[in-house]
Amino acid sequence: MTNPIYGRCLCGAVEYEILCKPVFSANCHCRDCQRSSGGAYAPVMLVKKDMVKIQGEIKFHDVKADSGLVNSRGFCPECGSQLFEKLESMPHFVTIKAGTLDQPELFEPKLDFYTSSAQPWDFMNPDLPKARREPELS
Ligand SMILES: [Zn+2]
Ligand SMILES: [Zn+2]
Repeated sequence: MTNPIYGRCLCGAVEYEILCKPVFSANCHCRDCQRSSGGAYAPVMLVKKDMVKIQGEIKFHDVKADSGLVNSRGFCPECGSQLFEKLESMPHFVTIKAGTLDQPELFEPKLDFYTSSAQPWDFMNPDLPKARREPELS
């Protein structure tokens, strides 16, 4: 992955730039990602917060995760595209939805997680490691 990496929402009101490589990339199959995206999983990149430059207004929706901590899902108030997530459990990071990248082919998932709630119609890459719940990041 070369830097910077650019992305935007569907309508273009929100644009962002990532200044360094994501710390981690994975597919989240949790119910919250399914419900909020309308799809089988969310392709997410974990990036250091100060390495992301965002232009435009974002609205956040807070949901309490299984852990009891809050996940704030950020979306464009104009077109509803989901772009970011702030995790109370990881205050120095944001996650970015890989489908919003200008070059989504740069996304390299390393793990499928929350596979305990993966749907039968969700085909996963058999070559990727699987975690039934939250990945262990050290
Ligand atoms: Zn938009
Ligand atoms: Zn999820």
